[in-house]
Amino acid sequence: MKRIVMLTCPKAENVCTGGGCFSALNSRTKAFAPYKGEEVKVLAFMKCSGCGHFPGEDKGLDEKIQYILDRRPDVVHLGICCCHDAKEKELCPEIMAVCRIFEDHGISVVRGTHSVF
Ligand code: SF4
Repeated sequence: MKRIVMLTCPKAENVCTGGGCFSALNSRTKAFAPYKGEEVKVLAFMKCSGCGHFPGEDKGLDEKIQYILDRRPDVVHLGICCCHDAKEKELCPEIMAVCRIFEDHGISVVRGTHSVF
């Protein structure tokens, strides 16, 4: 069984239900295709804490990161909304800082849910 977390952008909430991510997951397509035939447990649908909020400087964000670390997921999947430049597919520095912590703890980070970038 794969234990996963999805990390997305709070600014996308006005236009996004998260349905695209879960649809791709349920059908084991796009970034979730490698899990075909495998059980997947979603531990969290995490948001960053907004632009300008970095780990070590924001208590709430640090608590969210610790929550994820305590649950020891195998993989964190990033939504395309984590790119501040969707055209260039460039991740926000805030997201990169969060991902570095996950990777430092042995958690894989995959760029993609319903979009792979
Ligand atoms: S830092 Fe990036 S992912 Fe986070 S709220 Fe800002 S634009 Fe969205």
